[in-house]
Amino acid sequence: MAICKAEALVIRKFDFRETSIIVEFFTREFGRLKGILKGIRSNPKKFGSTLEPFSCNEIVFYRSRNSEIHLVSQCDLRDNFLEIRSDLKKINLASFFMELTSALLAPEDKHEEVFELALSCLKDMSLAADPARIINIAQIKLLKLSGFKPHFDSCVLCDSKIDEYAKFSTAFGGLLCFKCAYRDSNRHAVLKGTVASIRHIEKSDWQNSQRLGLSPLVKEELDMMLNRFVLFHLEKKLKTARFI
Ligand SMILES: [Zn+2]
Repeated sequence: MAICKAEALVIRKFDFRETSIIVEFFTREFGRLKGILKGIRSNPKKFGSTLEPFSCNEIVFYRSRNSEIHLVSQCDLRDNFLEIRSDLKKINLASFFMELTSALLAPEDKHEEVFELALSCLKDMSLAADPARIINIAQIKLLKLSGFKPHFDSCVLCDSKIDEYAKFSTAFGGLLCFKCAYRDSNRHAVLKGTVASIRHIEKSDWQNSQRLGLSPLVKEELDMMLNRFVLFHLEKKLKTARFI
């Protein structure tokens, strides 16, 4: 067993036996992994963190080759994101984003860009007046980085350029042109502004994408499309989605 150190966001935690907890972390160095913290419930001061969901911690753990659950020997809190924790809407959004990240990434598959995205998203959400907007932008970036990118550059089936006529197919995962639209009876119309916003967010870095203005109509459509897309392609309903 190798001793490893990692910067780790808490995705979720649950009690294990009488005194321990098992935590699912998203780490910068190793991706998503599970760790057991023995004795933390009988002696909370044994570790330097209470491991609240979406808190950022520094952990030291023994990396097991034979088990998917690793033994965490040290854990120190870096940021508890108190501004998020004092606002129920922000708590639900942050929990949803962590759960989505967990659902999209394979276990123990390092993805530093996604880790940076999650950290930026939590930091900016702490002080944001409109946290849902930040989650929309982060969701578009997360889908792209994790390879689930909906296709918005051209028709997803025949690759022809799309101008005025834009229909979105959740099942095919992208826009359909006039000729291909009949292939999905559940297609729905998309505003040009929504398509332009998604393209802009995909191409911009995090800071620049935050400057993009989203009209209420575009925001509403983005919300609906992203949730439908994620639900369809993950083939399961994210438990936290219903609170948003
Ligand atoms: Zn087409």
